[in-house]
Amino acid sequence: MRRLSSPWSELASHYAVVVVGSGYGGAITASRLARAGQQVCVLERGRELLPGDYPRTDAEFMSEFQVHFDPEAAADVGSPTALFELHRGGDVSVVTGCGLGGTSLINANVAMRPDPRVFLDGRWPDAFRADVDGLLEDGFAWAEHMLRPLPYPESAPPLATLSALAKSAEKLGGTFRRPPLAVTFEEGVNAAGVRQGACTLCGDCMTGCNFGAKNSVLMNYLPDAHRHGAKLFTEVGVRYLARDGARWRVYYRPMNAGRERFDAPDLWLTADRVILAAGTMGTAELLLRSKALGLSLSGRLGQRFSNNGDVMAFGYNTDVPVYGVGLGEAPSAGREPVGPTITGIIDDRATLRQEDGMIIENGAIPAALARPVTALLAAASAIAGQDTDRGVIDRVGELARIADSAVRGPYHGAMRNTQTFLVMSHDDGAGELRLSGDRVRVHWPGAGRQAVFTRVDERLRRATEALGGTFVRNPLWNKLTGHELLCTHPLGGCAMGERAEEGVVDHEGRVFAGPEGTEVHEGLYVSDGSVIPRPLGINPLLTISAVAERTVALMARRHGWSVDYSPVPEAPGPRPTQPLAVQFTETMYGYISAGADEDFLRAGDPARRDTSPFRFIVTVDSRDLEETLAHPLHPMQLSGCVVAPVLSSRPMTVERGVLHLMTHEGARPGGRRMRYQLPLVSESGERFFVDGYKDVHDDDGPDLWVDTTRLLVSIFRGEDASGRCIFRGYLRLNAKDFAVQLSTLRVLHAQGTVQRLAALARFGRFFFGELFETYVRSKAA
Ligand SMILES: Cc1cc2nc3c(=O)[nH]c(=O)nc-3n(C[C@H](O)[C@H](O)[C@H](O)COP(=O)(O)OP(=O)(O)OC[C@H]3O[C@@H](n4cnc5c(N)ncnc54)[C@H](O)[C@@H]3O)c2cc1C
Ligand code: SF4
Repeated sequence: MRRLSSPWSELASHYAVVVVGSGYGGAITASRLARAGQQVCVLERGRELLPGDYPRTDAEFMSEFQVHFDPEAAADVGSPTALFELHRGGDVSVVTGCGLGGTSLINANVAMRPDPRVFLDGRWPDAFRADVDGLLEDGFAWAEHMLRPLPYPESAPPLATLSALAKSAEKLGGTFRRPPLAVTFEEGVNAAGVRQGACTLCGDCMTGCNFGAKNSVLMNYLPDAHRHGAKLFTEVGVRYLARDGARWRVYYRPMNAGRERFDAPDLWLTADRVILAAGTMGTAELLLRSKALGLSLSGRLGQRFSNNGDVMAFGYNTDVPVYGVGLGEAPSAGREPVGPTITGIIDDRATLRQEDGMIIENGAIPAALARPVTALLAAASAIAGQDTDRGVIDRVGELARIADSAVRGPYHGAMRNTQTFLVMSHDDGAGELRLSGDRVRVHWPGAGRQAVFTRVDERLRRATEALGGTFVRNPLWNKLTGHELLCTHPLGGCAMGERAEEGVVDHEGRVFAGPEGTEVHEGLYVSDGSVIPRPLGINPLLTISAVAERTVALMARRHGWSVDYSPVPEAPGPRPTQPLAVQFTETMYGYISAGADEDFLRAGDPARRDTSPFRFIVTVDSRDLEETLAHPLHPMQLSGCVVAPVLSSRPMTVERGVLHLMTHEGARPGGRRMRYQLPLVSESGERFFVDGYKDVHDDDGPDLWVDTTRLLVSIFRGEDASGRCIFRGYLRLNAKDFAVQLSTLRVLHAQGTVQRLAALARFGRFFFGELFETYVRSKAA
């Protein structure tokens, strides 16, 4: 499997199309527009994790977990690029995925079409409903072609969890079936030409598939986009958008570079068209921020949020083995196969009123969560569990199994006999996403008290009764928490509507340009779960994908582009591993003045009346550490921004800056030079060029600190130093910022701690070795 993404430092300042987010909506849009010959750039906040990189243990899971709380209650926890994102602090808690591939990386693969009655609802715009058998049907067909959903094969090993669900179905009277799963059961090449491994039945799909068998968009649509020329950038969090004449200005923050430790301003790029596909929570959040900063949008923004009637509960410690706990590895001798997370459904949708229908599915708990869930269920069953069978002998057996789980772990006793139930149904879709502090939260008082959840609760209690277990609800759903819901299928918030009074986007995904009417913002689209205006009552990924396929087909039609849907041959094998790189973020500030011919120190003297402040915050990246060290100029890339009000009232972007680290080039004999070249572009399109150097040389007195922390700068108009020099001065790095700079130092692409430490040592040896040569050995000589 080839790595697809590039680092943010390679971003250009303008693209024809920018896609924000890389889940189903983003990946589909990127693939189709790249196939239509458009210059596509995908910006994804998370990292690129390949099979083998996903958490297997609880410790690994914790480092891939981020939680957002109500800002008034607690600070966020975890890295902002961790794979699992839990949005707490509202009336509904929401789980989403963060990474190249979005939530497709951690979902349970069920790719099913909804009850056709869903599309009769008047909440969908008329033109959409009229097109259900047209472009929407094509969209479903394309999505099925790319995601290749198949039921768990009859020829595959029997699964105890599936038999247990069949038993529950008998008791409930619903139709029992095997749903289509976006999983590869036989090794082979997929529709994007990517070779995928066969499912090992490990049961860990919800923490990411380490075997390349899960048909997440990282395996199909994204490689397809990349192959057709799209550029994918990870660790780029988009903050907000603003109109800039005929273009869009996209403000973003590089993640994990430590820029926030210097309170650095947001960076930006421009695009002719922007497609927001940051998921229900992400897209609403960045549109709400954009609205607060002046972008005119529909008053419906944030509304029509639905939980998709989601419920999770457990049939704990049943009388039958279930083997519903993931293994963290392929099943070996003596271990029962678990299967993909979900393999069966009780389809209860053939109700007179669509709103009364529901789907009940089995689910496997991934290995990385097994131990915490074991402890949680033992406690929750004792406090609030409902034992569904009676009898002294039965009770003795139950207690023995609980003890067995506690002593021997989650693959034994009570946990071995636990069925996880996942339900989708129909809530009223009346939630609202609001900005609270800097984060979006669900405002939906009383959401969990809707009648549908009591009905689901009763059905699940009976499903557990069929297995003789203890019924344990989602621990959040109780009186104390106001019946808080836990949602894995957030929908709505930027819902489709006929006009701005009813929705945020039209049936083509175009964003309405104000609170009223049908006028849209030229070139601004939404394509993800947020446009769905109602619950689907079924796992939503296939519908989100079909709607995204339809949106991009209409976009292409509107602009006269032709999407080439022809198949591709098998892609070349994996690229060699990425070279080790060292990265850190640096800030320097000082003053400049128009004395272009003057001495740097006089021109930048803060005591002068005609000086202006100047500051840069740049991330320094070696790209390939070995190459950097071997090259006589020791070049490193500089990316970031410059704040200099005399040049531009807004921060300017550094476009492909270069640092020559400790080179002899241009240095005095026995010394070294650090040269900074920063091409700048302002928001109004003006270009400047900063040429600066640190003169590292052993002069009289203790000058090492001053030499290495003082940058003498000349500023030219235009793209390079051939333009007119208009300012001069000098910048300083103070001791406090230097300490922060050290805290941002990191090694990229290291395979483990030993390699990381070795790379740091190698870089440190080079840097301090050069200083030693300059200040100690030259003196000795
Ligand atoms: C545990 C779990 C199990 C699930 N199981 C199923 C299932 O079996 N079947 C099913 O149909 N559905 C399932 N789902 C739901 C399904 O995966 C989602 O509905 C679907 O992935 C949503 O697609 P999307 O394109 O709207 O957004 P997402 O897939 O969520 O993608 C959004 C992307 O945008 C990125 N992003 C967010 N904000 C920004 C920003 N500001 N800047 C840049 N990037 C940003 C995110 O990091 C993410 O990568 C499950 C979900 C979970 C959590
Ligand atoms: S069961 Fe295991 S191998 Fe199969 S798709 Fe899920 S994670 Fe991958």
